[in-house]
Order: sequence, then structure tokens, then C-alpha cells
Amino acid sequence: MLSVNEAIKILLDSSKRLVESEKIDLIEASGRTLAGEIIAPIDVPPADNSAMDGYAIRFSDWFDAQSPIPLSQRITAGSVPAELEPASAARIFTGASVPPGADTVVMQEHCAEVDGAVRILELPHRGANIRRQGQDLSTGQKVLPAGQRLRAQDLGLAASLGIARVPVYRRLRVAVMSTGDELREPGDDIQPGQIYNSNRYTMKSQLAAWGFEVVDLGVARDDPEVVSEMMLRAADQADVIITSGGVSVGEEDHVKAVVETLGAIDLWRIAVKPGKPFAFGRVGDTPFIGLPGNPVSVFVTLLVIARPYLFACQGTADTVVHSVRHAALFEKKSSLREDYLRVRATDAGVELYSNQSSGVLFSTTWGDGLVRQNVGEEIHQGALVDYLPYVVFN
Ligand code: AMP
Ligand code: MG
Repeated sequence: MLSVNEAIKILLDSSKRLVESEKIDLIEASGRTLAGEIIAPIDVPPADNSAMDGYAIRFSDWFDAQSPIPLSQRITAGSVPAELEPASAARIFTGASVPPGADTVVMQEHCAEVDGAVRILELPHRGANIRRQGQDLSTGQKVLPAGQRLRAQDLGLAASLGIARVPVYRRLRVAVMSTGDELREPGDDIQPGQIYNSNRYTMKSQLAAWGFEVVDLGVARDDPEVVSEMMLRAADQADVIITSGGVSVGEEDHVKAVVETLGAIDLWRIAVKPGKPFAFGRVGDTPFIGLPGNPVSVFVTLLVIARPYLFACQGTADTVVHSVRHAALFEKKSSLREDYLRVRATDAGVELYSNQSSGVLFSTTWGDGLVRQNVGEEIHQGALVDYLPYVVFN
């Protein structure tokens, strides 16, 4: 059996970027992956400016001043100041440019203004309350690397540099297919022997949340010809194909035989729970991932195993997730497989959902994350465990 890390590594090693780059408006770029590094074209802030509402002075003129200082100008944010007149102070507001000749801003709470003059009650140190030109970013500085998936703060940073358009990779196109004669869609009646198709909804919405373009192919019946025809359509329309179910070795599991005929497939036995049967291959030249059928297995393997590969195919760098250590509020015997337990965090630690069966999808919505129980690890009440809140998979 492959360990989870080995499986992820094989996937990443065989991955390559499958998408071209394009230039888009910054405002549209949230969640997209940068296709080139961003270098600061200007200093931020572009000039020294005041961090406070107050009075700008030349420190050396006034460090022992007792008498009021005449005010020579008033500088609001957005205006251009004149040079500071000798032996004067300038009224200044937050964000306004510091006038040439001034080197210190005294906050207004430490001053008293009377008749066009200001008395300093408490002198700060020289240089106080000034945000220096370039203190955030300086011209030529590398600010965002290629491969970075853009978050809100990254867009804000690019905007602060005046960058209006950014190079990003096209969204990865992922074809999604569920397999199984027993599946019906929500809204349909179910007859004895049938169940509702949940994997389609889990997969589609998770892939869309990651910013991929989903080609939703619906359900393939357990019929080799149907599966084959849908696989070809998927390969034609998408960069990567993901299916759920039908990858075990039962007589009604046709995915393996079909993909073998159309390309190549490896059936992996990954030492993971839930999610042992996992397939990787290609339909023609289009990469193919076959997730298990059980709903919890789909969810977990999509997050833990498929996710890094999919992002790599889109040119996104650094898809490693980091767990945090949190106290277990439960006991669990060691296991031969890496076990992804569905848990819920509280201030005191993580609670385990009572039924960890791979068919119990409620375990995933009851909680807010997974505990990774490493192979051979025994979990004891109060011991620290690896907790992966779902947000780390965002
Ligand atoms: P399979 O790998 O096709 O044998 O599926 C394993 C289990 O997962 C079976 O109990 C299936 O009914 C169930 N299953 C497969 N696909 C889905 C789906 N799309 N939605 C809900 N359950 C599914
Ligand atoms: Mg099936």
C-alpha cells in the first residue's frame, strides 16, 4: 500500500501545468494564480506622510520650545504641501504629505492650538508619526511570486502599487462524473434500491470553490459503453477528469476497464481511511483521477490527495497544508492506515463524531475539520493531535 504522502508525491511528480496564461483586471483576480512575479514599480507610500492628525515641525527648531509656534500652512490628505517656513509649524492630517523641511509630526492630542499658533505640550522623538516613503514597498522589490494564488490581501497589495492588470493562469477545467446505476438526482423520486447522488454536489462545489471551471457530466450508468462515451467527452472538454465510484474491482466497476482501453490506469491502494481505492491514469492524454464511491471518502480524498495535484496542473505553487496541534477529547486505537477523523474543535480540544463510517456524510458537516491520525499513532484523551481545520484546504 502507498502512504498518503507517497501518493501525493507520485501525483505531483507526474503533474505539469496544463493551462496557458492570460491577463485580467486585478478586480477579477481573486483566487486566480499569478503567472508571473509582481515587482514593485513604485515606492509605497510614494512620499513621507503623516500617521496622525497633528502638527508638522522641524524637530531641531522646537525641542525646547515653551512658546506657541506660528502656523504657516494647512495640509490635508491629497494636497501638495509647500516647504515648511522657518520657525513655523504646519497643521497636518493623517495621510497628508509631510512638507519638505519638516521631520516630525506632533499628534494633536499633545498640542494646544490658540490664535493661529500651536503650543506643544509633549514633544515626541525626532521623526515621530511619519510614515516613510517606501516603508511598505520599495521600487524593484519582489512582492508576489509566480504561482501565488491571489488572496484579498494580495489584491490589495497589487492595487497599492497601481497595478491594474495581472497575468494569471487560465482556470483549470475539471470534468466531473459520478458512476452508479443506483444514483438519482435530488428532485427525482427514488425507488427501492436507489439513493441520491451526493458526490456530484460535493465534488462540483468543492472544485468551483477552488476556482476551477467545472464541466459537469452528471452520472454514468454502470455500463462500459456509457462510461466510455462519457470519458471521451470529458477528455475532449476538460484538462483533468475526476470520477467517483466504480474503481473497485467488482463486476459492476467499469471505470478501470474503460480507462485502460482509452489510455492507462493505475489502481492504487492507499493506506488512508477513508478512501482506500483511488485510481490515477489518463484518457488519451487527459489526466484521470478516480475517487472512491463512498461520500466521505470522496470528500477526504478530494481534499487531501487530489487537491495538490489539481492545483499543480493549474500552475499554483505551494499547496502544502499545515496542521495545528490541538488536544484530543477522545481516545482512539492506532491504525495501519492514515486515518482522517471528522472532528469539531472547541477551546478545550477536538471532539470526535461518534460514527466514523465512510458512508456517514453527516460526520463531515457536523464538524469543522479533520484530525490526521498517523499510522501507528494511539490517541489518548488530552494528547496533542494533528488537526486540519477545513479552512486549510481552501
Ligand atoms: P462504488 O465504488 O461504485 O462501489 O461505490 C461505493 C459506495 O458509494 C456504494 O455504496 C455507492 O452506492 C456509493 N456511491 C457511489 N457513488 C455515489 C454518489 N455519487 N453519491 C452517493 N453515493 C455514492
Ligand atoms: Mg458503483
